[in-house]
Amino acid sequence: MPLKKKYITPKKVIQPKLAPAPVVSPPKQEAEEESAPSKYPELLRGFRDILPDEQGRWNLVRDTARRFAEAYSFDRIDLPILERADLFLRTLGKGTDVVEKEMYIFTDPSNRSVALRPEATASAARAYINHGMLDRLQPVKFWYIGPMFRHDRPQAGRYRQFYQIGFESFGAQDAIVDAQLIVIGVQMFREMGLDVKVEINSIGTPECRSAYLAELVSYFRTHRAKLSEDDKRRLQKNPLRILDSKEDVTRELLKEAPQILNWLDEKSKEHFMKVLEFLEEMEVPYVLNPYLVRGLDYYSHTVFEFMLADDPMDSSQSALGGGGRYDGLVEVLGGRPTPACGFALGIERIVRALEAKGINPPERPAPRVFLAQLGDASRRVGLKLFEEFRRAGVNIVEAFGKNALKAQLESANKLGVELTLILGQKEVLDGTVIIRDMESGGQEIVDIKKVVALVQRKLAEEEVVAPAGSPVQSA
Ligand code: AMP
Repeated sequence: MPLKKKYITPKKVIQPKLAPAPVVSPPKQEAEEESAPSKYPELLRGFRDILPDEQGRWNLVRDTARRFAEAYSFDRIDLPILERADLFLRTLGKGTDVVEKEMYIFTDPSNRSVALRPEATASAARAYINHGMLDRLQPVKFWYIGPMFRHDRPQAGRYRQFYQIGFESFGAQDAIVDAQLIVIGVQMFREMGLDVKVEINSIGTPECRSAYLAELVSYFRTHRAKLSEDDKRRLQKNPLRILDSKEDVTRELLKEAPQILNWLDEKSKEHFMKVLEFLEEMEVPYVLNPYLVRGLDYYSHTVFEFMLADDPMDSSQSALGGGGRYDGLVEVLGGRPTPACGFALGIERIVRALEAKGINPPERPAPRVFLAQLGDASRRVGLKLFEEFRRAGVNIVEAFGKNALKAQLESANKLGVELTLILGQKEVLDGTVIIRDMESGGQEIVDIKKVVALVQRKLAEEEVVAPAGSPVQSA
């Protein structure tokens, strides 16, 4: 569907004037052991096929997101997978893992430095500027779904290509926007059958953050000898990242470290308190996490993560999504200062949690009618009849590739259909079809012109007895 008219800029696309991109060396990536060459093409490490078996759960996530986007008036946006590398280098932050180690950066055939997007908020902000949406009615609310790429160490629940659903709101400052985004996320999880808790923190404005950082650095300097090389580097390059550290020693030291909440200015505090009040009003379960800073530099004020409650799996993978406010991002990209807030959910993680809970909706509704044929003349008539049923909205399947009636009836049995239609040579000559009731085994011969209406009536009668197509919950 084309973008709504209100978003179409007359004639030209706005190219913001940007300051030169910061000099960031391309990510250093460890050489990886190649597996022994195989006879067949193989997947790259960290990449995967999402097979038909899993699509029921994927559909549940995708459909829920689309329904929520519509209910809360978020407009769909599709953004390119490949962008100029400096879009991310400029916005995500110099010392971040994503920029330092995980970006797929390469030179394209036009000799431009390009990157596979590691996330889509920067692209959404770029699109907001490019299409002149600063001048539209605010807030401008987008949602997207698509693959992201990070060259991280693959493990269960962590891939190099993974899918995110994002909700972004540009142009609104008030704390209620942050709170409503969190509510949307929590409600989406609930509707899918997952219980989440929200971890939340505020990292204030860049100004209060810099006062806090000075204190944080001086605290960790006194313990420098105990830090890993990675954390020493973080302390020097981007000290806020030390709060993200996975090292046990650092996590222990963090317990006594200064906490950013004590460094917030009055306005930031007030904003944060309002967000929490709204969450309480909506009975959203949240936990204050003073170490939560999120992996990327563009955040300000509220930051939050959706964590699987009672995670039976590895807890480091229990973050199903996260987000926050990013009031400075549009400006960093050369646009007018624009408050903004959003979140992204990781589909693989959600699907994994659904699987662990035994939630397994069917990929598509089960067929209710099977069309069997015998011989070429029946196939010709069958091909047409199938179209009639499809147009009438009947969930029908066939096995035109099979010849023997026995094999076709076996297929019909396996599929668990309610009715099988049999079109033999005699029926074709007579202009009739046999309807076989699969449960009773009873058969009747009917006029081919009336068969669609008749089958529809029979299925409707069945539905009154046992409604079909409701989601399956196994175990
Ligand atoms: P982030 O903004 O990096 O916190 O990503 C938001 C969400 O995307 C996370 O909470 C995860 O659910 C998901 N995610 C991030 N990185 C990966 C990955 N490498 N593989 C699978 N899911 C991921």
